[in-house]
Amino acid sequence: MFIDTHAHLNLDPFYDDPGPYIDRALQAGVTRMIVPSIDIESSERAVALAEKYGPVFAAAGIHPHESAKAPKDYLRIIEAFLSHPKVCALGEIGMDHYRDYAPRHAQLKVFREQLELAGHKDMPVIIHNRAADEDTLSVMETAGNFHAQFHCFGSDREFAGKVLSEGALISFTGVITFSGKAKALAGKLPPEKLMTETDCPWMAPVPYRGRTNEPAYVVEVARAYAEIFGKDIASVAAITRRTAETFFRLQEP
Ligand SMILES: [Zn+2]
Ligand SMILES: [Zn+2]
Repeated sequence: MFIDTHAHLNLDPFYDDPGPYIDRALQAGVTRMIVPSIDIESSERAVALAEKYGPVFAAAGIHPHESAKAPKDYLRIIEAFLSHPKVCALGEIGMDHYRDYAPRHAQLKVFREQLELAGHKDMPVIIHNRAADEDTLSVMETAGNFHAQFHCFGSDREFAGKVLSEGALISFTGVITFSGKAKALAGKLPPEKLMTETDCPWMAPVPYRGRTNEPAYVVEVARAYAEIFGKDIASVAAITRRTAETFFRLQEP
């Protein structure tokens, strides 16, 4: 049994008809999928999917790219989503200086406010950090909140060590199936601090590169971990699943 901790089923090309993707995931042994959000509309969609499909859980939040467009009362709206029984995290939130689609001051403000809200509500957060280690870390240190999953991890070993020592967790996407750098880094981390994710529809793993990624392919991420740690895929799946269940406080499927 696998968990895809980051599947954008609330976005194109999935949202109009996610059923076949969810069915394929279940057939592949992916028994739970967490749908992260990027804005208010996708948060609504994530909750709707979680209500309709048993294996689907939702996270609500404003992505750094969308931070400048967040409505004035966005915090109140996100807070309301957090009390839904199938909303298991606040996210994805963070900083992105690779694209800098939103001005940095807006990214910083919206990240900080949501991180504080998560702290008050005792909700885990899904962190999106791209080329923004310093700002991400400083906001988290100021908020004193590291109850966090660093999704699609792309930073270096030093940064990994820093966030793990603060109590955060890390997950890799399908990038781990083809990036020597990601493999080398993961191999130096404790497997019980890792989770599996696709970040679909992006980041398709080997042997599906160039295709639309989907939750079923999270098995390839677990397979890559198994090779890296010299374990069998079932035991790696069990270790990472337990980590995700505890972190997101997931119910049994
Ligand atoms: Zn992200
Ligand atoms: Zn994402």
